[in-house]
Amino acid sequence: MKRIALCVLIACSGKPATTTPQPTGTNLDTEGMDRSVTPGEDFFAYANGGWLKTHEIPPDRASDGTGAKVFEETERRTAELIKTADSAPAGSEARKIGDFYASYMDEAGIEAKGITPLEPELKAIAAVTDERSLARALGATLRNDVDVLNNTKIATENLLGLWIAQDLDDPTQYVPFLLQGGLGMGARDYYVDDSPRMAEIRDKYKAHIATMLKLANIADPDDKAARIVELEKLIAQTHASALETQDVHKANNHWPRAEFAKRAPGLDWDAYFDAAGLAKQQMFVAWHPDAITKIAALVHSQPVATWRDYLTFHAIAKMAGALPKAFADENFAFRGTVLAGVEKQRDRWKRGVDVTSANLAEPVGKLYVARYFPPSEKARAEEMVKNELAAFAKRIDNLTWMTPATKQKAKAKLAALKVGVGYPDHWRDYSGLEIGRGDLYGNLKRASMFEYHYDLAKLGKPVDRSEWVMSPQTVDAVNLPAMIALNFPAAILQPPFFDPTRPVAMDYGSTGAVIGHEISHTFDDTGAEFDAAGKLANWWTPEDFKHFKASGELLAAQYDAYKPFPDLAVNGHQTLSENIADTAGLTVAYDAYRMSLGGADAPTVQGMTGDQQFFVSFAQTWRAKAREQVVRRQVLTDGHSPAQYRAATVRNVDAWYPAFHVEPGQALYLPADQRAHIW
Ligand SMILES: [Zn+2]
Repeated sequence: MKRIALCVLIACSGKPATTTPQPTGTNLDTEGMDRSVTPGEDFFAYANGGWLKTHEIPPDRASDGTGAKVFEETERRTAELIKTADSAPAGSEARKIGDFYASYMDEAGIEAKGITPLEPELKAIAAVTDERSLARALGATLRNDVDVLNNTKIATENLLGLWIAQDLDDPTQYVPFLLQGGLGMGARDYYVDDSPRMAEIRDKYKAHIATMLKLANIADPDDKAARIVELEKLIAQTHASALETQDVHKANNHWPRAEFAKRAPGLDWDAYFDAAGLAKQQMFVAWHPDAITKIAALVHSQPVATWRDYLTFHAIAKMAGALPKAFADENFAFRGTVLAGVEKQRDRWKRGVDVTSANLAEPVGKLYVARYFPPSEKARAEEMVKNELAAFAKRIDNLTWMTPATKQKAKAKLAALKVGVGYPDHWRDYSGLEIGRGDLYGNLKRASMFEYHYDLAKLGKPVDRSEWVMSPQTVDAVNLPAMIALNFPAAILQPPFFDPTRPVAMDYGSTGAVIGHEISHTFDDTGAEFDAAGKLANWWTPEDFKHFKASGELLAAQYDAYKPFPDLAVNGHQTLSENIADTAGLTVAYDAYRMSLGGADAPTVQGMTGDQQFFVSFAQTWRAKAREQVVRRQVLTDGHSPAQYRAATVRNVDAWYPAFHVEPGQALYLPADQRAHIW
């Protein structure tokens, strides 16, 4: 973590320096700013231009910036905890962590085993000869590995993805959602886009598949690779777009088990669900009904032999990290270099820390918070949350366009929010997960099944609103609309995002904006469709909803106009939920920051007024540089806008204008009626 020496208080614009004790801690990075840029022309460059001009993305990263710095510091801390766990008593939970990491670092053992660990799985796939055994083999790959934290719910590499969560119609019940999947390159655009850039990536994918098959001694690798790519192209053509995927109304399709054969003929669903451990489940929700129907038809129409090759490749690819170096290197050459533009693979110990931390998420998290998240920091963050909830309630009261009836319902929803700070109230029990010191392949398989069965076991049980979906060592935060809950992991609550010893304006501009962002998701275009119980239900008067939608359209048009590349624009609707959360979150964080001062002026620090510190801190939170491949993928598939446009939402907040003397004619200037004042 780059700690910046405390600058002396400087009296700015003639105001006397305050006599308040000098704050200590992580200040803003003034050297990384570019004061030659006019804030109203390009605020991101004003706050970050010095850094942007000189900083190079390290060769082993796809992007770099403030978030990446915090991630690295968390990784360093986690690495220390994981390595120390090696000497924990045998049989303890901490020892599982040490043993898992040791199995990852046992490179000699992994090389010696070669592809032996993979053989039973390849043998089982080779035994697929008819549609029934094919359905069983496909069902055996079903996992709860959908990226549900992204609005666009990035598809799983397995043919379908499973997500067990509250029923949108009845949030007291868990239901299994089935999602489209089956693409080795993740997103449909890589398959259906005819541009030369994408055609070239497809050719490289085909070569990558052939190399992986060859490494595993599979016959006819080139022909098989060609057929696998063709099959994935057919699967991609069934997929809903990223934008359609976000529409919860299109997703809310209850399919009774008995109707699958009729609604999606072609796949032997009895065999599929039986192999997936879901034989007894009577109700499902088809998130992508059209894709599921068409994918089932492909299972019947495409040759069993092609499916067998497809399953073989994916069985190898998914476990590449647990196989000899040649597999991991080839996997990186395609996924790291071709898809993400990363030149150098990360050091093995770093990958080991990440994999251990992901597979033993809560045991590692327990050690993390005991060491790095003292009760005083939890209390400070909880106080910020409390202030922002109060500020949000006040904003609802003051909305001129909203009727009292809708206001009352909005406030009831705000009051129902369950906000988790740092770590969950209860820790999960990992005693059922067996970890072997010299068995990385087995450890990964068992950990994946452990997670899958943990989720399956929820079906039929009461919903637990205190459950977390993020580990405490995750540098991120999340809003769960059906759960009416927020998670703020301990790892995002650290410098330069959060530092209780520095001026409050900086913390509110950074962590405060993140807290505001997550609270605001409760009232973004999707969140606003869930009521105070987490049910998908309309609680708005028609006029209020119309006004709310119109404000959203203003923001969507703003983002449609942003072009990271001449041939590619941000999709204002695909990113609307996140942009609403950013805009409303920044507004509410600003209010909470002013409230926390109790009417006093914030001290001038580093030559900046309190308001200037607040907004610069916000823009520095979004400081980032990413490789072109990554930005393009994000624009195509992600619900979040690239960082510089997230920072640009300052133009929707009235207080930003006087703070930086922003005037008509400047690029970011918006007349008052064009600013998206959503909440
Ligand atoms: Zn968000």
